[in-house]
Amino acid sequence: MLYGGIEAGGTKMICVVGNENGEILERVTIPTKSPEETIPAMIDFFKGKDIASLGIACFGPIDLNKESKTYGFITSTPKLEWRNYDIVGGFEKELNIPIGFDTDVNGSLLGEITWGCARDKKNALYITIGTGIGGGVMTNGQLLHGMLHPELGHIKLQPAEGDAYKGKCPYHGTCFEGMASGPAIEDRWGKKAFDLAENDEVWELESYYIAQAICDFIVTLSPEIIILGGGVMNQEQLFPLIRKKTLGQLSDYINTKELQDIDNYIVPASLGGDQGIMGAVKLAIEAAKEAGIDI
Ligand code: ADP
Ligand code: ZN
Repeated sequence: MLYGGIEAGGTKMICVVGNENGEILERVTIPTKSPEETIPAMIDFFKGKDIASLGIACFGPIDLNKESKTYGFITSTPKLEWRNYDIVGGFEKELNIPIGFDTDVNGSLLGEITWGCARDKKNALYITIGTGIGGGVMTNGQLLHGMLHPELGHIKLQPAEGDAYKGKCPYHGTCFEGMASGPAIEDRWGKKAFDLAENDEVWELESYYIAQAICDFIVTLSPEIIILGGGVMNQEQLFPLIRKKTLGQLSDYINTKELQDIDNYIVPASLGGDQGIMGAVKLAIEAAKEAGIDI
C-alpha cells in the first residue's frame, strides 16, 4: 500500500510517496510561498498517486486537539499568510483520504522511533537546532501533545557567566531558541554558523546552552534517548562537548545506565535528514489504521 507524507516547513514543503517499510518511492520539494500557490502544487503531486492516506508533519504552532474547531490549523505562526490556515482541511477536501497531523519535530521523532535509532524506545526526545529550536517528545509510547504541544525551544536559560547577549527570540529574548538557534549564532558572532566551524569559543558556548536545556529535559521528561538534529548539529564537534557538559551540569544527581553510556544517549539523527518525512509517512499509516482501512 502507498502513503503520502509531507514535511511542511517555513521555507520548503517536502512531499513524498512511501510505503509501510519507510521506503520513499517518490519525492518532490516545493518552496513555501502563500497557501494559495503552495497547496495546489502539493495536491497536484498527490492526485492520482493512489495513496491510502496522508501524513503531515508541520511547522507550528498548530492545533492538534481533535475536539477543537480549529483542529488541523496552523495557528499563531509569524508567517502571516499561513496564520489560522486550515492545512488539514485543505487536503481532506481535495484528496478525500484520512490525514494524520502532528508537529514537524514529533514527525522526526516518530521517524526515528519507527525506523531509526530509537526503535526500541518508548520514551524519547528529538530536538532540532536550526532556524528555530523545537522538540518532539514521546512518553510511554505516545507522542506528547497536551494542551497545545511542547515548545521546548522556548524554555528560559541562564546566561553563561559574562555573556551579555540579549537573545534573538522576539518573545523571550534569551530563551533556548533566542540563545542557540542558527540565527542567534549568526547575530551574536556576525557570521553564519557554517563559517564559524573553526572558532572553538562559538561551540563551547553553544554546547553550554544546549547542555543546559538537555539537563532540564532530562529532569522533566526522563527520556531514554535524546536525538539532536537540525542544521546547526551538522557541527559534529558539538556532540562530545554537549555530552561532557550535560554530565557536568547534572552533577551526578542522576545516575542511570543510559547516562553511563552517554555516547549512545545523546545522539545525532540517524535517518540522513529523512527522519521528518519518514515520520510523516508513519503518521499516514496510523491515520489509515485509525480510519479502519485494511492495511
Ligand atoms: P530549518 O530549521 O529552517 O528547517 P535547518 O535545520 O537546516 O533548517 O537549519 C538552518 C539553520 O542551521 C541556519 O541558521 C543555518 O545557519 C544553520 N546551519 C545549516 N547548516 C549548518 C552547518 N553545516 N553548520 C552550522 N550551522 C548550519
Ligand atoms: Zn522564545
